[in-house]
Amino acid sequence: MSEKKLQSIRGIHDGLPAEVARWQRVEQAARRVFGCYAFSEVRMPVLEPTELFVRSIGEATDIVSKEMYAFTDQGGDQICLRPEGTAGAVRAWLQGGLTRSGTQRWYYIGPMFRRERPQKGRLRQFQQIGVEMFSAAGPIEDAEVLAMAHAFLSELGIPGLNIEINSLGCGACRPGYREKLTSYLQQRAGKLCETCNERIVRNPMRVLDCKVQSCQQELTDAPEMVAHLCDGCDDHFTGVQKGLDALAIPYRVNPRIVRGLDYYNRTAFEIVTDKLGSQGTVLAGGRYDGLVQELGGPATPAIGFAAGLERLAMLLDDVPLATPDVAVVVLGEEALGYSLAQADVMRKAGLSVVHCGGGSAKRQFKVADRELVRFVVAVGEDEMQAGVVTLKEMQNGQQQRLPVSEVVTVIKGQLL
Ligand code: ATP
Ligand code: MG
Repeated sequence: MSEKKLQSIRGIHDGLPAEVARWQRVEQAARRVFGCYAFSEVRMPVLEPTELFVRSIGEATDIVSKEMYAFTDQGGDQICLRPEGTAGAVRAWLQGGLTRSGTQRWYYIGPMFRRERPQKGRLRQFQQIGVEMFSAAGPIEDAEVLAMAHAFLSELGIPGLNIEINSLGCGACRPGYREKLTSYLQQRAGKLCETCNERIVRNPMRVLDCKVQSCQQELTDAPEMVAHLCDGCDDHFTGVQKGLDALAIPYRVNPRIVRGLDYYNRTAFEIVTDKLGSQGTVLAGGRYDGLVQELGGPATPAIGFAAGLERLAMLLDDVPLATPDVAVVVLGEEALGYSLAQADVMRKAGLSVVHCGGGSAKRQFKVADRELVRFVVAVGEDEMQAGVVTLKEMQNGQQQRLPVSEVVTVIKGQLL
């Protein structure tokens, strides 16, 4: 009788060592570059009250209307697995009493959950590297946040990325624009897809980034937010572009960028590759000046972005897995304790060491081979009595007997 094998949930996959090595490369680049811009890491919970996302992301969005993993827990509370990081960051910032502590620059790395249709580059549990900057109002901050995103991706050496920016206006200029857009869309409703027809009523700006080609064709002459900005928003958008120009960061204004979430205003941006088909957005974000107030805090301008870790990792060349520096082989039961102690000395000195576990020499050398080590340290009763080990270099078979402290020096010298 064979039972069906247990498998992970569709769209949720394991990070095995080879993949985690890529993730770590992305994370290291993020930590290094964000550190240079004086951002600090925060760690927020994965479980949040469902209400947090309903109030911030908005009910008319895909995430809240159909993608959240939300449930009632045993105590009757409405809980959900976070679908994104910004709302939780705002909650944490408010709850932590940081509203008066000046500009806060945060980043986080962790899993997000959305019940989407699984496909290449689109998972149900995925990781985001997110950035949030609170109490930052000016276009200079936007330009610097974009510069930071650009520096992060440049550090990873991913070619062919395009920065696309747009302005979503504000409470003063957007309603007028929305009306114009809505009437434009209504005239073409018959030619737009079913989802877009729903969007015309609920969230007309979302029609602009519909992925269906026939919809995009209908939008060629659609009114653009950038042509309807109020003076304040127009100045801001010009300021962002001046900042990017001063930093020589290449970008393109794309009036179709609207972002999926309700809380964005003014600057919105995406960094896109053509290597991942329709899942080509690797990093996206924007300004959200109204969100803090929406969640019960004082009016606070803020800006942020999130990058999809798995999507970025897919664009990287293979990252070689780290192999141990040394394998310890023990010849004879008597020297077992001595061999363990030698391994310990080398590890304390910072080397990566595997102990081959004793038994026959043949088996142990096979283990050492499989680990792809450059050095084997062999010990038997002889070495134990003399207080030394035999160091063997696998590449050329050279052997020498040395005290373990000298072995450390030799190996470190060669690993440089
Ligand atoms: P998309 O248009 O691709 O659905 P989005 O607008 O929903 O993206 P955001 O919510 O802004 O994306 O998330 C920021 C980034 O997180 C995306 O650009 C993408 O790289 C990544 N991301 C979003 N959803 C997923 C997912 N389901 N699987 C993997 N990565 C994702
Ligand atoms: Mg999405």
